Amino acid sequence: MPYVRRTPLEYSAALSDAAGGAFWLKLECWQETGSFKVRGAASAMTQLPRASRERGVITFSTGNHGLAVAWMARQLGVKATVCVSRRAAPTKTEAIRRQGATLIVEGGAQDDAELHCYAVAQQTGAAVIKPFDDAFVIAGQGTIALELLEERPEIDTVVVPVSGGGLISGIAAALKQTNPQTRVVGASMEGGAAMHHSLAAGRPVAVEERATLADSLQGGIGKDNQLTYRLVQRFVDDVVLVSERAIAEAMTFLLVNHGLLVEGAAAVSVAAILQGKIGGARQAAVAIISGRNADPARYVRAVGKCLGGVPSCGSAPEGSATR
Ligand SMILES: *Cc1c(COP(=O)(O)O)cnc(C)c1O
Repeated sequence: MPYVRRTPLEYSAALSDAAGGAFWLKLECWQETGSFKVRGAASAMTQLPRASRERGVITFSTGNHGLAVAWMARQLGVKATVCVSRRAAPTKTEAIRRQGATLIVEGGAQDDAELHCYAVAQQTGAAVIKPFDDAFVIAGQGTIALELLEERPEIDTVVVPVSGGGLISGIAAALKQTNPQTRVVGASMEGGAAMHHSLAAGRPVAVEERATLADSLQGGIGKDNQLTYRLVQRFVDDVVLVSERAIAEAMTFLLVNHGLLVEGAAAVSVAAILQGKIGGARQAAVAIISGRNADPARYVRAVGKCLGGVPSCGSAPEGSATR
């Protein structure tokens, strides 16, 4: 696809030493728009019929998917509307506006933005580009696995940040159908991990959103989830949780050892590995580094505390209090 970059797969001696095994980082932080989300957006939007494109596209997002849709819409010359909640990070909403999309801020939670998105779509006829529960989006995110298999066919373990589960569904479906022995582990933050709690409950359940460094992982999986819940149930070995402190430490680890500035959501994979939570063989293990769109001030506070050895390193970020 002309819109998607093939991202680097970088060996991490630091992570291999720290966790035991051989680890690579899949650097989706260097993807166009700063996260892997452009893969799914490009996959879903390039297949829209012309008549549908002319009515424009609309979506709901915690930020990165909205930004990817806004960017793709600009490439295709299509009108885009992005619905976010008041929780969306200002740096992300500003980036969405800069792409020329119409931004609508609605409600205090991701679910409010979603409801509003469908209401507007009914009126305008715009095509809804779902953030994760869509076959084209899942297939687009799955192209990461195809790049991994081309470069390192011996991969035995992949650790993937999880929110709605589009990213891990695409990757796991591709890897498991190539080699059922490959271990696929999801990682989320401790507070508000919708997929983890849904798997435990045996059905999609709603969770309360909490302040977290991993703001891109907030939001539910949808109580009418069609695809990702079952794909994760079928293809994913485990979904583990990491603390805010572990996330901040992993962000710091990636800065110090790789010069990488990543957002909290992207660091949960490395956090899970450093916390010894992934299990399995890891002679060729990959951590997906899903994005770089951190709020700069929040990033500096969190990582600065860790570098300074402050005991509260990684406490929940200010300015995004719980409901
Ligand atoms: C969206 C996102 C995720 C989670 O992807 P899902 O498909 O919703 O599970 C992880 N990391 C970043 C940076 C994201 O933007």
